[in-house]
Amino acid sequence: MRKFEDTYRHKGMRRKLVEVVRQKGIQDEKVLEAINNIPRHFFLDSAFDEVAYEDRAFPILEEQTISQPYTVAYQSQLLEVKPFMKVLEIGTGSAYQASVLAELQVQVYTIERQKKLFDYNKTFQYLRKYPNIKFFYGDGFEGLPTFGPFDRVIITAAAPEIPPKLIQQMKVGGMMVIPEGIGDVQVMKRITKLENGELKIEVFDQFSFVPMLVGKND
Ligand code: SAH
Repeated sequence: MRKFEDTYRHKGMRRKLVEVVRQKGIQDEKVLEAINNIPRHFFLDSAFDEVAYEDRAFPILEEQTISQPYTVAYQSQLLEVKPFMKVLEIGTGSAYQASVLAELQVQVYTIERQKKLFDYNKTFQYLRKYPNIKFFYGDGFEGLPTFGPFDRVIITAAAPEIPPKLIQQMKVGGMMVIPEGIGDVQVMKRITKLENGELKIEVFDQFSFVPMLVGKND
């Protein structure tokens, strides 16, 4: 089995990554601290050990990606979480984003549609550090009706539309951060569910995610 080591060298590279992400405009100190705490190289194949702390996305299993740290920080900052909130994540992938949220002391419910990724995360020792993450294999478009309603929803794949069932599973006053759009580029949006049932939509920067696909893949 692979031996994971977090050396001084890794920690030094990580501190530099935090500064890069800060320079790009992330100001939430708790989010930056979470990035500083998490050994990102554990989430990648050992072949990527030297580059794991570059601010880039990398391939993982099943042609999926571990998001760029800046993107993870950006979405986490927009989500404005507070400890003990219930947060639904669509697209577990490498579980790096889920770990950042776990470091922010929320209850994470994360869904992945790729069975191999879901199974891999069950064997990934480091994640035992976070009893506040619950992993689900399923279709994120359906959400988790029996576990809701949620304070926050974060979608980490390119969504063709705002998924109506996920809006239903949000609390009043709850927020969703979603990269919306098909094709190569998506617009990051933050949707707030207002008391009168209407949605407030704020529009932010452009990003590029792998697509959010309907159904499961075994
Ligand atoms: N949050 C991840 C980013 C992974 S990339 C990280 O931190 O690394 C997006 C992930 O969303 C992929 O693993 C993909 O399989 C998954 N995905 C795409 N459509 C989905 C859906 N409908 N339900 C659940 N997961 C989905």
